[in-house]
Amino acid sequence: MKHTKIIDLINSTNFLHEVKAKGWVRTFRNNQFIALNDGSTIKNIQCVVDFENLPADLLKKIHTGAAISVTGTLVESKGAGQNVEIQVNNLEVLGEANPDEYPIQPKKHSLEFLREQAHLRVRTNAFGAIMRVRSVLSYAVHKYFQDKGFVYFNAPIITGSDAEGAGEMFRVTSLPLDNLPKKEDGSIDFSEDFFGKTTNLTVSGQLEAEAYAMALGQVYTFGPTFRAENSNTSRHLAEFWMIEPEVAFNNLDDNMDLAEDFIKYVIKYVLEKCEDDLQFLEERLLSEEKNKPQAERSDMSLLQKLNFVLENNFKRVSYTEAIDILKGCKPNKNKKFKYLINEWGADLQSEHERFLVEKHFKCPVILFDYPADIKAFYMRMNEDGKTVRAMDILFPGIGEIVGGSQREERYDKLVERMEAMGVDQEELWWYLETRKFGTATHSGFGLGFERLVLFVTGMTNIRDVIPFPRTPQNAEF
Ligand code: ATP
Ligand code: MG
Ligand code: MG
Ligand code: MG
Repeated sequence: MKHTKIIDLINSTNFLHEVKAKGWVRTFRNNQFIALNDGSTIKNIQCVVDFENLPADLLKKIHTGAAISVTGTLVESKGAGQNVEIQVNNLEVLGEANPDEYPIQPKKHSLEFLREQAHLRVRTNAFGAIMRVRSVLSYAVHKYFQDKGFVYFNAPIITGSDAEGAGEMFRVTSLPLDNLPKKEDGSIDFSEDFFGKTTNLTVSGQLEAEAYAMALGQVYTFGPTFRAENSNTSRHLAEFWMIEPEVAFNNLDDNMDLAEDFIKYVIKYVLEKCEDDLQFLEERLLSEEKNKPQAERSDMSLLQKLNFVLENNFKRVSYTEAIDILKGCKPNKNKKFKYLINEWGADLQSEHERFLVEKHFKCPVILFDYPADIKAFYMRMNEDGKTVRAMDILFPGIGEIVGGSQREERYDKLVERMEAMGVDQEELWWYLETRKFGTATHSGFGLGFERLVLFVTGMTNIRDVIPFPRTPQNAEF
């Protein structure tokens, strides 16, 4: 007999016939009940087992974490919190989990502890819920763009260019590290490399996406990107997934419309499809909030926050207006910024971004028209010659979630910017050709997928929303 997924059993009303279920023991109690989970849902199915009549050698193998198979009758349950249960008449232990060694026990583990158990933490309710939500969000990303006729394309992972010019790249080489070929001047001779030049792991698929938008009109990438940034924050990973749409004939306003519509769509989708998991995460957060001092408690629950984003327009504010607000505000003693902003032209730190979103506007904010000097070379220069058509979307609890822009489509202006910013034109000869031949207005953005998952799940550390986080000094798993 083939086993049935637990989610299907829980939703079944076809009682009083024999079923088989396989999964992992979550808890067992009163010498009678086993809560079994197979990952198909946050809910466990209750298995009613006559422990007293189990052979002793079988009984001692039943522990939290053990993989078991049960066969029995599906019946309506009288117990609170569940509709069905299995009256078990046969139980088999498939894989034991010695409680003296198995780290995941039925109690609340700290997130720090679980980070050291990246291969096992997905067996907890919280991580099961987060990873199912992440999966549904991925699907929603594709669904949104596919339904709108965007072409999904795969940007290369190994590239020769540094799209952001931030110098945060991981080198890729096939050369033997213990015997690097050297040129006469002592530098490494990459011409002997498999790729014949210096190559890196991509920091963004944007430049390639632009080339593709110049033929396919609307494209998007959704793939891994890599940044060797030595920043140990709760918002940065060395390996993260980025969603990057790029659209021909779209200007900055169109770009903002697209980003806002897209974010609202995926949040709405996940609210509909992940009800149980989000309900669990909501309750998890509410119980954490209770332990905080009143002043630090959030004024909205997770579900309220998600619905708030759906129901309200993102506030669109120019960088210049934002600086005026930040300059004019006199934060009280406790809330003083570490970095005070006095000057137009300074880059915003995440504390400023969060101040604008959480304290001032109290809603998601789209900041636009940033000073050219603090943004990448490919953004379109405004008529003032000082600002570029950049936009960042800022979210409560997160800060920057999206970075985007209208691109500089004019060949001469682009060359001018590359020169001014010291960007290698020879290396980007192909990118310049996209402006030489059939250039057109276009825009796009990059949304860090994990920052979106952070917001949707209410988690606070980006290490907890990706299966195996890559951060400085951490690639054990
Ligand atoms: P930040 O200011 O937070 O360092 P950024 O401006 O360097 O971000 P962009 O180059 O604009 O980032 O990348 C686009 C998006 O990718 C960001 O808005 C963010 O959502 C996400 N992102 C950037 N760097 C990281 C990272 N190290 N880990 C996770 N997500 C990231
Ligand atoms: Mg950065
Ligand atoms: Mg930034
Ligand atoms: Mg950015």
